[in-house]
Amino acid sequence: MAEYKRVLLKLSGEALAGSKKTGFDEATCLEVARQVKQLVDDGIEVGVVTGGGNFWRGRTSENIDRTKADQIGMLATVMNCIYVSEIFRSVGIKTNVLTPFECGSMTKLFSKDRANKYFEKGMVVFFAGGTGHPYFSTDTATVLRAVEIEADVILSGKSIDGVYDSDPAVNPDAKKFDEISIDEVINKRLGVIDLAAAVLCMENHMPMMIFGLNEKDSIVNTVKGVTKGTLVTA
Ligand code: UDP
Repeated sequence: MAEYKRVLLKLSGEALAGSKKTGFDEATCLEVARQVKQLVDDGIEVGVVTGGGNFWRGRTSENIDRTKADQIGMLATVMNCIYVSEIFRSVGIKTNVLTPFECGSMTKLFSKDRANKYFEKGMVVFFAGGTGHPYFSTDTATVLRAVEIEADVILSGKSIDGVYDSDPAVNPDAKKFDEISIDEVINKRLGVIDLAAAVLCMENHMPMMIFGLNEKDSIVNTVKGVTKGTLVTA
Protein backbone atom coordinates (compact mmCIF):
# COMPACT_ATOMS: atom_id res chain seq x y z
CA MET A 1 0.00 0.00 0.00
CA ALA A 2 1.20 3.46 -0.92
CA GLU A 3 1.95 5.73 2.03
CA TYR A 4 0.48 9.08 1.14
CA LYS A 5 1.76 12.17 2.97
CA ARG A 6 -0.07 14.83 0.96
CA VAL A 7 -3.14 14.26 -1.19
CA LEU A 8 -5.30 16.50 -3.37
CA LEU A 9 -9.01 15.69 -3.25
CA LYS A 10 -11.15 16.75 -6.22
CA LEU A 11 -14.85 17.17 -5.48
CA SER A 12 -16.93 17.86 -8.55
CA GLY A 13 -19.81 20.30 -8.19
CA GLU A 14 -22.23 17.43 -8.78
CA ALA A 15 -20.66 15.49 -5.92
CA LEU A 16 -21.46 18.36 -3.54
CA ALA A 17 -25.08 18.42 -4.67
CA GLY A 18 -25.71 14.75 -3.87
CA SER A 19 -28.93 13.42 -5.37
CA LYS A 20 -30.28 16.99 -5.68
CA LYS A 21 -27.92 17.57 -8.67
CA THR A 22 -27.81 21.31 -7.96
CA GLY A 23 -26.77 23.50 -5.02
CA PHE A 24 -25.43 21.84 -1.88
CA ASP A 25 -26.40 18.65 -0.11
CA GLU A 26 -25.26 19.24 3.46
CA ALA A 27 -25.39 15.56 4.49
CA THR A 28 -23.11 14.61 1.58
CA CYS A 29 -20.63 17.37 2.44
CA LEU A 30 -20.67 16.45 6.15
CA GLU A 31 -19.85 12.86 5.24
CA VAL A 32 -16.87 14.06 3.19
CA ALA A 33 -15.82 16.27 6.14
CA ARG A 34 -16.02 13.35 8.57
CA GLN A 35 -13.70 11.29 6.39
CA VAL A 36 -11.24 14.13 5.73
CA LYS A 37 -11.06 14.68 9.53
CA GLN A 38 -9.88 11.07 9.89
CA LEU A 39 -7.14 11.64 7.31
CA VAL A 40 -6.02 14.88 8.98
CA ASP A 41 -6.02 13.16 12.41
CA ASP A 42 -3.79 10.47 10.86
CA GLY A 43 -1.31 13.19 9.86
CA ILE A 44 -2.13 13.29 6.15
CA GLU A 45 -2.10 16.73 4.50
CA VAL A 46 -5.22 17.33 2.42
CA GLY A 47 -5.77 19.90 -0.31
CA VAL A 48 -9.20 20.27 -1.92
CA VAL A 49 -10.31 21.49 -5.34
CA THR A 50 -14.03 21.78 -5.98
CA GLY A 51 -15.82 22.01 -9.29
CA GLY A 52 -18.66 24.41 -9.93
CA GLY A 53 -21.08 22.38 -12.02
CA ASN A 54 -23.71 22.32 -9.26
CA PHE A 55 -24.26 26.01 -10.07
CA TRP A 56 -22.83 26.81 -13.47
CA ARG A 57 -20.48 25.66 -16.20
CA GLY A 58 -18.95 27.88 -18.86
CA ARG A 59 -20.74 25.89 -21.51
CA THR A 60 -24.13 26.31 -19.74
CA SER A 61 -25.14 29.20 -22.01
CA GLU A 62 -24.54 29.58 -25.74
CA ASN A 63 -25.74 33.16 -25.66
CA ILE A 64 -23.12 34.86 -23.54
CA ASP A 65 -19.44 35.43 -24.07
CA ARG A 66 -17.40 32.34 -23.12
CA THR A 67 -14.85 34.26 -21.08
CA LYS A 68 -17.61 35.82 -18.99
CA ALA A 69 -19.41 32.49 -18.68
CA ASP A 70 -16.20 30.91 -17.42
CA GLN A 71 -15.74 33.71 -14.91
CA ILE A 72 -19.16 32.83 -13.48
CA GLY A 73 -18.03 29.19 -13.31
CA MET A 74 -14.86 30.12 -11.45
CA LEU A 75 -16.87 32.19 -8.97
CA ALA A 76 -19.16 29.18 -8.47
CA THR A 77 -16.10 27.18 -7.36
CA VAL A 78 -15.28 29.95 -4.85
CA MET A 79 -18.80 29.69 -3.37
CA ASN A 80 -18.39 25.92 -3.20
CA CYS A 81 -15.03 26.12 -1.44
CA ILE A 82 -16.25 28.65 1.13
CA TYR A 83 -19.25 26.42 1.83
CA VAL A 84 -17.32 23.15 2.10
CA SER A 85 -14.61 24.87 4.14
CA GLU A 86 -17.26 25.94 6.68
CA ILE A 87 -18.73 22.42 6.76
CA PHE A 88 -15.20 21.11 7.43
CA ARG A 89 -14.77 23.64 10.25
CA SER A 90 -18.04 22.46 11.79
CA VAL A 91 -16.43 19.05 12.40
CA GLY A 92 -13.26 20.58 13.87
CA ILE A 93 -10.98 20.81 10.81
CA LYS A 94 -8.84 23.95 10.43
CA THR A 95 -9.13 25.34 6.90
CA ASN A 96 -8.09 28.14 4.58
CA VAL A 97 -9.37 29.06 1.12
CA LEU A 98 -6.92 30.28 -1.54
CA THR A 99 -7.81 31.78 -4.92
CA PRO A 100 -5.65 32.73 -7.93
CA PHE A 101 -7.35 36.17 -7.94
CA GLU A 102 -8.21 38.64 -5.16
CA CYS A 103 -11.60 38.13 -3.50
CA GLY A 104 -11.16 40.83 -0.87
CA SER A 105 -11.34 39.44 2.63
CA MET A 106 -13.24 36.30 1.57
CA THR A 107 -10.19 34.28 0.48
CA LYS A 108 -6.42 34.64 0.37
CA LEU A 109 -4.32 34.87 -2.77
CA PHE A 110 -2.78 31.52 -3.81
CA SER A 111 0.93 30.96 -3.65
CA LYS A 112 2.84 27.72 -3.14
CA ASP A 113 4.58 29.15 -0.06
CA ARG A 114 1.29 30.19 1.50
CA ALA A 115 -0.25 26.76 0.82
CA ASN A 116 2.77 25.06 2.40
CA LYS A 117 2.55 27.33 5.43
CA TYR A 118 -1.07 26.30 6.00
CA PHE A 119 -0.33 22.60 5.45
CA GLU A 120 2.42 22.87 8.09
CA LYS A 121 -0.20 24.25 10.50
CA GLY A 122 -2.34 21.14 9.97
CA MET A 123 -4.93 22.97 7.87
CA VAL A 124 -6.91 21.64 4.94
CA VAL A 125 -6.21 24.01 2.05
CA PHE A 126 -8.95 24.76 -0.50
CA PHE A 127 -7.85 25.80 -3.97
CA ALA A 128 -10.85 27.77 -5.22
CA GLY A 129 -11.35 29.71 -8.46
CA GLY A 130 -9.87 27.06 -10.75
CA THR A 131 -6.76 28.18 -12.61
CA GLY A 132 -8.10 31.75 -12.68
CA HIS A 133 -8.32 31.57 -16.47
CA PRO A 134 -11.20 30.91 -18.85
CA TYR A 135 -11.19 27.93 -21.24
CA PHE A 136 -9.86 25.67 -18.48
CA SER A 137 -11.67 23.27 -16.17
CA THR A 138 -11.37 22.42 -12.51
CA ASP A 139 -9.82 19.11 -13.63
CA THR A 140 -6.93 21.13 -15.07
CA ALA A 141 -6.81 23.26 -11.91
CA THR A 142 -6.67 20.06 -9.84
CA VAL A 143 -3.67 18.66 -11.71
CA LEU A 144 -1.96 22.06 -11.76
CA ARG A 145 -2.30 22.53 -8.00
CA ALA A 146 -1.39 18.88 -7.30
CA VAL A 147 1.83 19.32 -9.27
CA GLU A 148 2.61 22.70 -7.69
CA ILE A 149 2.11 21.52 -4.10
CA GLU A 150 3.90 18.24 -4.91
CA ALA A 151 0.97 16.06 -3.83
CA ASP A 152 1.57 12.30 -3.84
CA VAL A 153 -1.72 11.57 -5.59
CA ILE A 154 -4.96 13.09 -6.82
CA LEU A 155 -8.06 11.55 -5.24
CA SER A 156 -10.97 11.88 -7.63
CA GLY A 157 -14.30 10.83 -6.14
CA LYS A 158 -16.92 10.17 -8.80
CA SER A 159 -20.46 8.87 -9.07
CA ILE A 160 -18.92 5.73 -10.67
CA ASP A 161 -16.45 3.50 -8.75
CA GLY A 162 -13.56 3.54 -11.23
CA VAL A 163 -12.53 3.61 -14.88
CA TYR A 164 -14.31 1.20 -17.25
CA ASP A 165 -13.57 0.22 -20.85
CA SER A 166 -17.13 1.26 -21.74
CA ASP A 167 -20.10 2.79 -19.94
CA PRO A 168 -21.42 0.18 -17.45
CA ALA A 169 -24.82 1.91 -17.49
CA VAL A 170 -25.06 1.02 -21.19
CA ASN A 171 -22.89 -2.13 -21.45
CA PRO A 172 -23.44 -4.78 -18.71
CA ASP A 173 -20.15 -6.48 -19.77
CA ALA A 174 -18.11 -3.29 -19.22
CA LYS A 175 -14.76 -4.11 -17.58
CA LYS A 176 -13.34 -2.07 -14.72
CA PHE A 177 -9.60 -1.39 -14.70
CA ASP A 178 -7.68 -1.84 -11.41
CA GLU A 179 -4.89 0.15 -13.00
CA ILE A 180 -4.52 2.00 -16.28
CA SER A 181 -1.88 4.37 -17.64
CA ILE A 182 -2.72 7.98 -18.41
CA ASP A 183 -1.46 7.34 -21.98
CA GLU A 184 -4.21 4.76 -22.42
CA VAL A 185 -6.80 7.11 -20.91
CA ILE A 186 -5.72 9.71 -23.48
CA ASN A 187 -5.41 7.36 -26.46
CA LYS A 188 -8.75 5.67 -25.83
CA ARG A 189 -10.42 8.99 -24.94
CA LEU A 190 -11.86 7.36 -21.81
CA GLY A 191 -13.09 10.72 -20.56
CA VAL A 192 -11.83 10.29 -16.98
CA ILE A 193 -10.57 13.86 -17.01
CA ASP A 194 -10.40 16.35 -19.85
CA LEU A 195 -7.54 16.18 -22.30
CA ALA A 196 -5.65 19.28 -21.12
CA ALA A 197 -5.69 17.93 -17.54
CA ALA A 198 -4.66 14.44 -18.69
CA VAL A 199 -1.67 15.78 -20.63
CA LEU A 200 -0.56 17.82 -17.60
CA CYS A 201 -0.79 14.64 -15.50
CA MET A 202 1.27 12.71 -18.05
CA GLU A 203 3.97 15.34 -18.42
CA ASN A 204 4.38 15.72 -14.66
CA HIS A 205 3.92 12.08 -13.64
CA MET A 206 1.01 12.79 -11.34
CA PRO A 207 -0.95 9.62 -10.43
CA MET A 208 -4.66 9.65 -9.78
CA MET A 209 -7.05 7.38 -7.87
CA ILE A 210 -10.58 7.29 -9.29
CA PHE A 211 -13.16 5.90 -6.85
CA GLY A 212 -16.88 5.99 -6.00
CA LEU A 213 -17.49 8.94 -3.70
CA ASN A 214 -20.89 7.65 -2.60
CA GLU A 215 -19.57 4.35 -1.24
CA LYS A 216 -19.21 4.27 2.53
CA ASP A 217 -15.83 5.52 3.82
CA SER A 218 -14.50 5.51 0.26
CA ILE A 219 -12.10 8.44 0.72
CA VAL A 220 -10.45 6.94 3.81
CA ASN A 221 -10.48 3.41 2.39
CA THR A 222 -8.93 4.59 -0.87
CA VAL A 223 -6.11 6.40 0.95
CA LYS A 224 -5.49 3.39 3.20
CA GLY A 225 -5.58 0.97 0.27
CA VAL A 226 -8.50 -0.97 1.82
CA THR A 227 -10.63 -0.58 -1.29
CA LYS A 228 -9.47 0.16 -4.76
CA GLY A 229 -11.09 2.12 -7.49
CA THR A 230 -8.82 2.58 -10.49
CA LEU A 231 -5.22 3.79 -10.18
CA VAL A 232 -4.29 5.96 -13.16
CA THR A 233 -0.51 5.81 -13.43
CA ALA A 234 1.53 8.54 -15.06
N1 UDP B 1 -13.56 27.29 -14.98
C1 UDP B 1 -12.69 28.09 -15.71
N2 UDP B 1 -11.35 27.97 -15.51
C2 UDP B 1 -10.82 27.09 -14.61
C3 UDP B 1 -11.71 26.27 -13.88
C4 UDP B 1 -13.07 26.39 -14.09
O1 UDP B 1 -13.11 28.88 -16.53
O2 UDP B 1 -9.58 27.04 -14.45
C5 UDP B 1 -15.04 27.48 -15.14
C6 UDP B 1 -15.60 26.79 -16.36
O3 UDP B 1 -16.61 27.60 -16.87
C7 UDP B 1 -16.20 25.52 -15.76
C8 UDP B 1 -16.72 26.03 -14.43
O4 UDP B 1 -15.72 26.96 -14.01
O5 UDP B 1 -17.22 24.99 -16.56
C9 UDP B 1 -16.94 24.98 -13.38
O6 UDP B 1 -15.88 24.07 -13.35
P1 UDP B 1 -16.05 22.55 -13.84
O7 UDP B 1 -16.93 22.48 -15.05
O8 UDP B 1 -14.69 21.97 -13.97
O9 UDP B 1 -16.82 21.94 -12.60
P2 UDP B 1 -17.26 20.42 -12.32
O10 UDP B 1 -17.74 19.85 -13.62
O11 UDP B 1 -16.06 19.67 -11.79
O12 UDP B 1 -18.35 20.57 -11.27
